[in-house]
Amino acid sequence: MNLVLLGPPGSGKGTQATFIAEELEIPHISTGDMLREAVSKQTELGIKAKSYMDKGELVPDEVVIGIAIERLKSADCQKGFLLDGFPRTVRQAEALDKALSESGHKLDAVLNIEVADEEIINRLTGRRSCVDCKRVYHLVFEPPQNPNFCDACGGKLVHRSDDTIETVTNRLKVYKEQTEPLISYYKRQNLLKSVDGQQSIDAVFYDILTVLKGDYA
Ligand code: ADP
Ligand code: ADP
Ligand code: ZN
Repeated sequence: MNLVLLGPPGSGKGTQATFIAEELEIPHISTGDMLREAVSKQTELGIKAKSYMDKGELVPDEVVIGIAIERLKSADCQKGFLLDGFPRTVRQAEALDKALSESGHKLDAVLNIEVADEEIINRLTGRRSCVDCKRVYHLVFEPPQNPNFCDACGGKLVHRSDDTIETVTNRLKVYKEQTEPLISYYKRQNLLKSVDGQQSIDAVFYDILTVLKGDYA
């Protein structure tokens, strides 16, 4: 299956992506993770992206479209993929449609995870992310056994520098202005499947599998 995960920052895209990718045996592609990797390696892309990410602004379309489309050409994406955090603008969505149709593919569904703004601030200020396997935790809602290390791989857990109240507030504003229009974009294509993201992690996952039934299995 070719899937896209849509939703505001902190809605649980990364958390659910881990489970969905495992269940459907498809690669989890997070442009946020790819960009952070580039920032930490100080590549040309990383240096360019960092100033935008620090402010909670979107990295320019031409940069992100290039890396996402390139990644989708890899052999492991030919039998399906799960995009997390891409597309985030109508221009990115159009570029994705074009690239997929050129290679004879198409999207099967767009999962839209709905969460209210107040909850997002709580989630992101308590989020901890593994620098190695990228798994995410929450100090209260999904606590790791040791607050400094990943249960899954032992990697170091960090509080992302863009998970401060100020930056999160701007990321939410950017989401509403630039990403939310994708909801009607995908509704028009009859691909949108919304789920209530304000339930337990297990319940959200269950709902996702339920709305996908009929499209897989
Ligand atoms: P979130 O937790 O908000 O979903 P991500 O890890 O997906 O965060 O993204 C972190 C940052 O990386 C964004 O604030 C943005 O600066 C940049 N980024 C990630 N994906 C994209 C994209 N598709 N387009 C533009 N910028 C992106
Ligand atoms: P996104 O990728 O959309 O930015 P994450 O998956 O990183 O979101 O989740 C943001 C934070 O909220 C993390 O700390 C995560 O552990 C926590 N979280 C995710 N899903 C839930 C949930 N259903 N209930 C409570 N906390 C959650
Ligand atoms: Zn880890």
